[in-house]
Amino acid sequence: MQLSPERKVRTTCPYCGVGCQMDLLIKNDLIYRVEAPFDSAPNYGNLCVKGRFGLDFTTHPRRIKTPLIRDGDQFREATWDEALTLVAEKLTQIVTESGGDAIATYACAKATNEDNYVFQKWIRAVMKTNNVDHCARLCHAGSVTGLQLAIGSSAMSNSIAEMEHLDTFIVTGSNTTETHPVISLFLKKAVRQNGAKLIVIDPRQIELTDFATLWLRQKPGTDVAVFQAMAHVIVTEGLYDRDFIGSRTEGFDEYVETLEHCTPEWAEEISGVPAEDIRTAARMYASAERAAFYWGMGISQSVHGTDNALSLTNLALMTGNLGKAGTGLNPLRGQNNVQGCSDSGGLPNVYTAYQRVDDPNIKAKFEREWKTTLSADPGLTVTEMVDGALTGRIRGMVVLGENPLMSEPNLSHAQHAIDALDFLVCIDIFMNETGERADVILPSASFAEKAGTFTNSDRRIQRVRPALPQVGESLPDWQICCELAKRMEALLGVEESAGFDYHDAEDIWEEMRRVTPDFYGITYERLEHEGGVHWPCPSLDHPGTPYLFENDFPRGKGKFWALEVTNDSETPDEDYPYHLTTGRVLFHWHGGTMTRRSKLEEAFPEPILEMHPEDAHALELVSGDWVEVTSRRGSVVCRVMVTGRSPAGTVFLPFHFVEAAANLLTLDKIDPRAKIPDFKMAAVSLRKVDAPEREGHDVPLEERGAIKDPTTFVH
Ligand code: SF4
Repeated sequence: MQLSPERKVRTTCPYCGVGCQMDLLIKNDLIYRVEAPFDSAPNYGNLCVKGRFGLDFTTHPRRIKTPLIRDGDQFREATWDEALTLVAEKLTQIVTESGGDAIATYACAKATNEDNYVFQKWIRAVMKTNNVDHCARLCHAGSVTGLQLAIGSSAMSNSIAEMEHLDTFIVTGSNTTETHPVISLFLKKAVRQNGAKLIVIDPRQIELTDFATLWLRQKPGTDVAVFQAMAHVIVTEGLYDRDFIGSRTEGFDEYVETLEHCTPEWAEEISGVPAEDIRTAARMYASAERAAFYWGMGISQSVHGTDNALSLTNLALMTGNLGKAGTGLNPLRGQNNVQGCSDSGGLPNVYTAYQRVDDPNIKAKFEREWKTTLSADPGLTVTEMVDGALTGRIRGMVVLGENPLMSEPNLSHAQHAIDALDFLVCIDIFMNETGERADVILPSASFAEKAGTFTNSDRRIQRVRPALPQVGESLPDWQICCELAKRMEALLGVEESAGFDYHDAEDIWEEMRRVTPDFYGITYERLEHEGGVHWPCPSLDHPGTPYLFENDFPRGKGKFWALEVTNDSETPDEDYPYHLTTGRVLFHWHGGTMTRRSKLEEAFPEPILEMHPEDAHALELVSGDWVEVTSRRGSVVCRVMVTGRSPAGTVFLPFHFVEAAANLLTLDKIDPRAKIPDFKMAAVSLRKVDAPEREGHDVPLEERGAIKDPTTFVH
C-alpha cells in the first residue's frame, strides 16, 4: 500500500482495553504526534500516557526484521521460504506422528480479530485440534467462567459511554486509574460532576479511594465473604427486587438458605472490614436507581476467581441491576484486543462469538464453511498446555505475539516446560523471553503497519489502519498463518483447502461475519462511517448493542449460585511472613515488550516493591534501599518504595520487569473451574541487600535479565 509522506491516520490504541481512538501524525515514516479526536467514542479527546507517548516502539531499532532460525545458542537470519518450510515440516511431522492434540498454541490479545480468526482456523482446520488459548486465561478466566455459569455471557454488559450517568457503582479489584486510565476519567467525572456514589472494595489504597463515598479494605483473598455478607444484608432487610427475581432468575430461594450464616459480623471476622461498613455498602448498592459493578484482575486472578464473579452476579441479579443503561456487570478487560481474541475463537472450547466446538450444529456449520472435518473435543487451556509440555503430551508449540515466559505463574516451572518441547515457533515483533528459547521466530507487523479490527472492553469493534511502512520483511500475522496453513495442507495431502487465500483483512472479516450471527451486521463500510459498533449486531440495519440483557440472558434465566468461603491460597507463615500481590503501573504494559522499548521506559525504568511504613521500619528499610524478595518458587532483587498504598504485611510488585520478574515468585495453583492461577496471593520473605553495581538507567535494556536483542544473531 502506498503511503503519502505526510499523513494523519485514525486508528485504535494498541495498549489497553479502553480502545481509545487516536490520530497518528506522521512525517518521514515516524509518528511525531498523537492526537485524540474529540468527537469520537469511546475516549472523546482523552488519551493516557501510554497512548500519547508510548508508540515509538514501532520504529525501535530492535524490531525483528527477518525470519530467524536457531543455530546452536544463537539465531541466523533466513528467507521466508526457508523458515516457513521448516515450520510447516516440523509441525506436520508432529501432527502425523502424534496427532494434532500434540500441538499447543497461544492466540494473541494484541493482534487483530482477523489475525486471530485465521490463526485459530489454521489450528482447527489443518491441525485438527482445539488447543487454542490466550492470555485471557491468565487475567479474566475467573470472570468469564462465573458469568457464563450465571447468565451465559462473559462480556462487559454495559458501555463506557454509560459511565458518566451512573447513580451508584462499585469498583473492586481494579486500580482503574493506572490500568484503564481513560475509563477512570469517566468514573471520576460521574462522582465529581454528576454526584454518583462510588464504593471501592480493595485492599490497596488506590487513587479512586479519594473519590469514594465508602472504601472497604478487605484482607487479600477474602472478597467472597464481603460480597456474601452484602447479599445477606440485602435479603434480611428486604432490599431485593422481587419482580426481577421472579421474572428473570432461578434458584433464589435455595441461594437465600445458604446465606443464613453470612452475617456482616461473620464477614468482619474473615475480612477485617467493619460489619457496619458492609451494611452501608449493601444498602447503597441495593437502593440505587441504577448500580453497576466494575472489576479487574484483583478479584479474577484468584483460586476463587469464579466464585468472586458469581458473588457479584448474585448481587446484580437480586437487585435487578442488569439489562438497563448505567447498571451491569463489567469486567474491565486488559489488553487492547483481549475481548476480540476471545470473540474471534481464540479459546479452546468455542469458535467465533462463543459458538461451542462440541455443539454438533455449530461444528457442522464450520465444517461446511471450511470444507473439512473438525474436532468436537475442547482443547487445553494455557495452564494445561504448560503442564502438557512437561509430561510429553504436548510436543510442539506455536506462540502468536505472547510471552508465556513472563506471563505464566511460577516461571521456573514454565521454563522447564518450554525447554521440553520438540519444536517452538514464535511470531512476534520483538525478541522476548519466550522467543529466546524458540526454534524459529517469524517477524510480524505491529498494529501501526496493518489493517484490521480490535474489539474493546465494551464489545465495540473499531478499525485499525496502516500508518507506517512494513519493518524489514515483517508481515501481518494473518498472512504468516495463511502461508503456514497452505504449506501444511500440501504436506498433509489435503485435497481441498479450508481457504487461506484472502485478499486483505476485510476479506477475512467478511468470512467472520458469515459464520457469526452476532457480527453479521458489522461491515468495514459501517465502521468507516460510524467509528465503531457494539456487537451483538445481527443485521445491517441493527444499531449494535451498547448494553446487554434488556429482555433475557443468553442462558435464559439468570441463575443464583451458592458459594462457600474457603482459604485455598498460600498464606504468610513464619518462613515467608509477607503477602505478595502483583499488578500494573501506569507507565508500563504487561511483560514490557512494547513500553520498555518506548519513551515510557525513561519515566519508569525499573521494578519497585511497594511496602508499608510499618514493615519498612521493622526491616530498617527506607525508600530506595534494595531488597531480596523470596518465595518458595524463586527470588528477585529490586528497590523499595515505602508507601501506605498496600496494607501492613502486604507488598506489591509490578509484573512488567524481567530483571525482577514477579512471576518467578507466584505459584501455579489454579481456580478449579476457570484454571486461572492465583497470581495475587503468594507468601514471600524480604531481606535487605546491597545495591547492585549498576542500577536502573545504567543498565542497557538488552542486558537486563533475559532480554536479548537481535544483535546476538549470527548474520
Ligand atoms: Fe490506550 Fe488505554 Fe491509554 Fe486509552 S486508556 S490511550 S486505550 S492505554
